[in-house]
Amino acid sequence: MYPDDGGWTSALTHLECGRCAERYDADAPQNVCHCGSPLLVRYDLDQVRASVRPEDIASRGADLWRYRELLPVRDPANVITLGEGWTPILPLTRYGRRIGVPGLLAKDEGMLPTGSFKARGAAVGVSRAHELGVRQLTLPTNGNAGAAWATYASRAGMECLVVMPEDAPQVTRKESLAAGARVYTVDGLIGDAGRIAGQAVRDGWFSAATLREPYRIEGKKTMGLEIAEQFGWRVPDVVVYPTGGGVGLIGIRKALDELTALGWITGRLPRFVAVQSTGCAPIVRAFESGAETAEPWPADEARTVAFGINVAAALGDFLILSALRDSKGTAIAVDDQDILEEQVACAADDGVLMCPEGAATLAAVRRLRTDGWLAGDEEVLVLNTGSALKYADALQVDRPTRLGRDADLPPEATSTAETTGTVRGRRTPR
Ligand SMILES: *Cc1c(COP(=O)(O)O)cnc(C)c1O
Ligand SMILES: [Zn+2]
Repeated sequence: MYPDDGGWTSALTHLECGRCAERYDADAPQNVCHCGSPLLVRYDLDQVRASVRPEDIASRGADLWRYRELLPVRDPANVITLGEGWTPILPLTRYGRRIGVPGLLAKDEGMLPTGSFKARGAAVGVSRAHELGVRQLTLPTNGNAGAAWATYASRAGMECLVVMPEDAPQVTRKESLAAGARVYTVDGLIGDAGRIAGQAVRDGWFSAATLREPYRIEGKKTMGLEIAEQFGWRVPDVVVYPTGGGVGLIGIRKALDELTALGWITGRLPRFVAVQSTGCAPIVRAFESGAETAEPWPADEARTVAFGINVAAALGDFLILSALRDSKGTAIAVDDQDILEEQVACAADDGVLMCPEGAATLAAVRRLRTDGWLAGDEEVLVLNTGSALKYADALQVDRPTRLGRDADLPPEATSTAETTGTVRGRRTPR
């Protein structure tokens, strides 16, 4: 139940295949098109334009439901919320200056419920599933989506069954269990988990797998709506996104297209940059070869500390690639060592400790600036998609100095001369 239900109207009209444009009824539970592609949610934008102005939104609650006209939940009584959305955009001033991009900013999704931006997709996906009468849902996950969907399902009083790779971050497994989900781990990758979760679908469980239900995109779309509003109804020059299944990137593009159609923003899209790991980079490879879809990355080779982007095959590959090309963006792969170094460097410079996926965008920005793809005066927004605390074991920092109970602080501890510090991976300015 959403607390403020005054004048709630969703402009939802129907679902439409992202590939063949076939239309589907939005008021029955749906998965993918008969052609196998994801379904996109469509709204009556004329109705939105007539009923609400950007100024009206400014006075609404600081969560993603402030964009209710552009979201699919028809009745506020069906909203399942933990206060998600409206995350801050933080300037990374010192770090940005050091890598030659003083206009660097991060949208920090690490403070959302369940510690990742998967909460956005889960809040909207679970709310709409609840509205359509779904009682049991299942999904394969690399960890964060399972934790988020299990958590929102619990709040909705629904059953949730998640299947995740054995080496998904431990904490996400525990979060899912704590939320009362049925949790299975598999000695394999998310693709293997997907095959197993598919068996529950055959037994009547609703599939909430990435892009296999239409509403997760709508939740992640709110990142794009917030970016535009937080920039004062305009967009930055470049948006840099750590890309696994690509839902967030597809969602941000969809948001900006809808806002453009409404006339709430004008001008060009930001250039989108998809960041992947050198250990699993099917989108980067497809982008570089000019292909419209991506070949799956060999599953036994897919490996990175940035677990959320360890996705060998993305159902929405063609939507990701068209967002990159239409916006004159690019795709880039970075390696784990660079990710871990930038992660700590940014925390030391600006106090923003990103998850490895978020830090991958920093490594990418540094490289794109060095290569000249980014100019020094551009406004560049990176998405930090989750909290570093979920992956605390991966942090590359030195041990603190151990002291005995009766020890004194060593003299260098309080010296104001240049200290060596306890932070590894900190680089000197170039
Ligand atoms: C899932 C996830 C991603 C990738 O998200 P997509 O939108 O599916 O590409 C990135 N970062 C984190 C922390 C994630 O959990
Ligand atoms: Zn289709």
